[in-house]
Amino acid sequence: MIRLARQVLIIATAVALGGCAARPLVRAAAEPVPPLPPSAERAYQAVAPRFDRVTTMEVVNFMSDYWRLAANPGYNASIDHLRDLLISAGFSADGPADGRARVRVDAYEHEGRGWDYQRGTLSIDGEPEPLLSRDRDRVSLAINSFSTPAGGRRARLVDVGAGASDADFDGKSIKGAVVLGDGPLGPLWQQAVRQRGATGVISTQIAPYIRPFDPAKMTEEQKDVLQWGSIPYHAAMESFGFKASWRAAARMREALARGPVTVHADIASAFYTGQNRSLIAEIPGRSRPDERIVLVAHVQEPGANDNASGAATLYGLARALLEAIQAGALAPPERTLTFMWLDETRGSREWIAAYPAEAKLVRHMFSLDMTGQDTSRTGGTFLIEKQADPTAVWPRPSDPSSEWGSGNVKPEALRGSLLNDVHVTVARRRAAETGWVVRTNPYEGGSDHTVFAQFGVPSLLNWHFTDRYYHTNQDTPDKTSPATMEHVGVTVATSAWFLASADDADARVVLEMLEDAATRRLALEREQGAGLVAAATDRQGAEQVERQVIAAWVKWYGEAFDSVLTLPAGEASDELRAAVAAARARLK
Ligand SMILES: [Zn+2]
Repeated sequence: MIRLARQVLIIATAVALGGCAARPLVRAAAEPVPPLPPSAERAYQAVAPRFDRVTTMEVVNFMSDYWRLAANPGYNASIDHLRDLLISAGFSADGPADGRARVRVDAYEHEGRGWDYQRGTLSIDGEPEPLLSRDRDRVSLAINSFSTPAGGRRARLVDVGAGASDADFDGKSIKGAVVLGDGPLGPLWQQAVRQRGATGVISTQIAPYIRPFDPAKMTEEQKDVLQWGSIPYHAAMESFGFKASWRAAARMREALARGPVTVHADIASAFYTGQNRSLIAEIPGRSRPDERIVLVAHVQEPGANDNASGAATLYGLARALLEAIQAGALAPPERTLTFMWLDETRGSREWIAAYPAEAKLVRHMFSLDMTGQDTSRTGGTFLIEKQADPTAVWPRPSDPSSEWGSGNVKPEALRGSLLNDVHVTVARRRAAETGWVVRTNPYEGGSDHTVFAQFGVPSLLNWHFTDRYYHTNQDTPDKTSPATMEHVGVTVATSAWFLASADDADARVVLEMLEDAATRRLALEREQGAGLVAAATDRQGAEQVERQVIAAWVKWYGEAFDSVLTLPAGEASDELRAAVAAARARLK
C-alpha cells in the first residue's frame, strides 16, 4: 500500500521540481537536457564513449566468486585483481610522485579477523537432500562459524519460535541442541548458545522487502532466498549459525511436527589474521594537487551488486577518465582524483587518520555502493542519496526515504553545498540522453559517505533501492546490468572531474543552476507545507515546523551559493563574488 501512495505523490511533485529533484518515471528523453557547465559537458563527451562495460562486468564476475571479508583470500584476490587491471590501464604501481597516475595498496592493522568457509552443509539426519549447503545457498553459513569435527556434528533440533525472549526458551532442553528461531541471528545466539549452551543456531529472519511472509504469495525463487548474517566470534564455544530460507525452515518444522529431529551440521571454515588492505589509485591534480575529490567503493561482502558492482563501476570510471586524459580528449584535473577500494567504513576511517593533511583538503566525496542493479530483476531504481539537506531532518512528501530506513540528522549539522545539485544535474543529463531512471533520496547513511560527512566533507551516495536481493544468496551477477554501471560510471566520472577542474565561467553556470533550484525548492516547500498545515490537527505546531523548514532551506542555499566561490581551481573573480552576493540578497 505504502509503495503505491508514494509513487503517485512523486509524479505530482517531480513535475513541479527542477534543480536537485530528479524527475523519475517520466522518461527523461522527452525533457530538455539541462545545460551542464562547459567543462562538465566536455568531460561527459570525453568519458562517455570510453566506459568499457565488458571489463567492468568481468570485475563483477571475478569478485562474485568470493565471500569477501577483509583479510580473507577473496578480499585480497579482489584487491590484487583490481590493482593489476588498473596497472594495465595505465596507472603506475608505486614509484615516485612524478605527476603520473599511480596505484598502491595500503595495509594496516585489522582489528577484526577474516573468515571464510569451504563447506557448510546442514541436513536432517536420514534425509539425503541437505537443507542448506554452500554449493546451493552460497552464504547460508553465518560469518564466524567454526568448523565441526570430522564427519560433522549431530544434535537435537529445538524450535523456539522467535527466540528473542526468555519465555521462548522456557521448558525447552537447549544445552547441546541446535536451535531454530525466527528472530535475528545475534540475539538468538546470545540466548541459545551463550546463555544456554546450544551448539548452534538457525535463524529465518529476513527483511520485509525481500519476500512476502505469506508462502501463498511467494515465488519458488523466494522460497529459497535468505539474507546472510554473522554470529559473534567466540573461540571457546566454537559454535556455528545458519540463515535458513523459508523452504529449509518449513522442512524442519514439518519434520518436528512428525516427532523429534536430529540435524547434521558439516562445516569446514577458516579464520585469517592478516592485515586489512585498501587499494588507492590517484590521478594527480595539476595546479591544486593537495586538494582532492575522493571516490570510494567498498570491497567486502559477498554480493554481485553489493558491492562487486560498485568496485567495478569505480574501476570502469577511473580507467575511462585516465584514457580520456592520455588521449588528450580531456585535460588532467586541477585537483587530485583519489579512487579507493576498501573495507567499508574501516578503510575510510583509516585513510582519514593516516593522511590527516590530505583529508583536511578533501573537497567532495562520492560513495559507490550497489551501482549495478538490473532493476528489471531487482526492482527499485538508481538513487542519489543526497548530502544531508533539510529533507534529512524534516520528512517531506516530495522526498521519501527508502525502505532501508531514514537517517537521524540534526538541523545544526546541515551545511549547504553545491554537490547535490551539480551531481543530480549531470545524472539528469545522462537520463535525458538514455532514458535511464534517476531518483534522489534524503541522507540515510550506512556507507562510506557517512564517514566523510562526519569529517565535514560534502559527500553523497550512488546506490539502488529497494533491491529484493539485498544481502541475499541471490545477489548474483545475473542481477547486474553493465548498462546501469555505465550510466553511474559516466555520471560520477563527469561530476568528479568537473569538481576537480571547474573554472570561473563554470562556477557562474553552477550559481545560476543553484539559484534556479533554490527557487523551485522554496516554491515546492511552501506549496506542500500549506497542504501539511491544512491537514494537521495542531496547526500552530505545523506552521512552526514549516517556518523552520523554509528557514533551513534559505540557510542551506545561502551556504551552497557561497560554496561556488571555492569551486574554481583558480581564484574566484570579482564578477563571481558579486554574482554570489547578489544571489544571496535575492534568496528569501
Ligand atoms: Zn554495500
